[in-house]
Amino acid sequence: MKSKQCLVIGLGRFGTAVATTLYEMGHEVVAVDTNEDNVENVTNLVTHAAVLDATEERALKAIGVADFDVVVVGIGTDVQAAILATMNAKSLGAPYVVTKAIDEMARRVLERIGADLVIRPEHDSGVRIARQIATPNLVDTLDLGSDHAIVELEANERIRGNLRDVNLTGRFGVQVIAIKRGGKVEISPRAEEELRAHDKLVVIGLAHAIDDLRRYLG
Ligand code: ADP
Repeated sequence: MKSKQCLVIGLGRFGTAVATTLYEMGHEVVAVDTNEDNVENVTNLVTHAAVLDATEERALKAIGVADFDVVVVGIGTDVQAAILATMNAKSLGAPYVVTKAIDEMARRVLERIGADLVIRPEHDSGVRIARQIATPNLVDTLDLGSDHAIVELEANERIRGNLRDVNLTGRFGVQVIAIKRGGKVEISPRAEEELRAHDKLVVIGLAHAIDDLRRYLG
């Protein structure tokens, strides 16, 4: 995998975790914050750390914000600063800006001003944990952005026959991308594949469509 050039703005708990993890994974990470202590804390854990106020357009331009593959704005509480930093990064040409929002209103504003991805870490992980708790047959979940997911569901007697007859795509809008059975994995199973009790179906689809299927399976 090609290493990415990342700029992380705001080194609170969230920004620090993003910056140090990306660096550990072999990416180039520049980490900035207005607070000198926060910068100091990550100095040895990222490629380069600096004190910088991201609400100042000139400072972002000087650091070459447009040259980073990804800019992560981890300023949470100061919504105005998060908005300005995101707006500056986008207007200076940053190709992909991920911004943290503290609430739904901030999320809507940040999306409107051009953030490519807005996350609400506490809200998003709360939703995910709730899904895991509430769904005992959900073995694992991989979130693909806010709308889609890949999940593993256990087949039962409610879906009998082969994949064509069961027609999960037509009925629920989800696609079966693999079947796990007795330690083996059948990738891209054929339409003729007969489902058996306890098969683990790996499905992809809209999160709400997967929820519908899960409810149907009981
Ligand atoms: P967390 O909940 O992840 O700890 P916070 O909102 O508490 O997030 O932390 C945000 C960080 O962003 C703080 O370290 C703060 O100093 C930094 N920050 C706030 N405003 C700016 C700004 N204009 N430019 C750069 N960093 C900023």
